[in-house]
Amino acid sequence: MSGMWLSGISSEAEGMESWRAARTTQLNDVLSLRTAVRDLSQDVAKLALLNQALWELLRTKLRLTDQELEQMAREIDLRDGRADGQITAQAVQCPSCNRINNSKHAKCLYCGQLFEKPIFG
Ligand SMILES: [Zn+2]
Repeated sequence: MSGMWLSGISSEAEGMESWRAARTTQLNDVLSLRTAVRDLSQDVAKLALLNQALWELLRTKLRLTDQELEQMAREIDLRDGRADGQITAQAVQCPSCNRINNSKHAKCLYCGQLFEKPIFG
């Protein structure tokens, strides 16, 4: 009788320990995600700053206009067939070996053929 009672306590303790371990894992996951989001936010802020600096430099040195920038952005946006304000990767077929590559690559991963157009997507 007392053996059953003790084994009940033991399994309850094991259950609590298992719950604690799962909870610790969840908390560590949340902390990792927070760190990743913070790092990504910093990366985006840095890229936005560099983008702005590049644009202002080009606008000044080459006498470009904001309208020309917007027109180019619209053209690039449409390369994937959707006007969604995003640049997304797409599959491209290598004109030399016919294998499929990601449009983010400037040359074929298989044969090294340089692609004419897709530079970043
Ligand atoms: Zn190729």
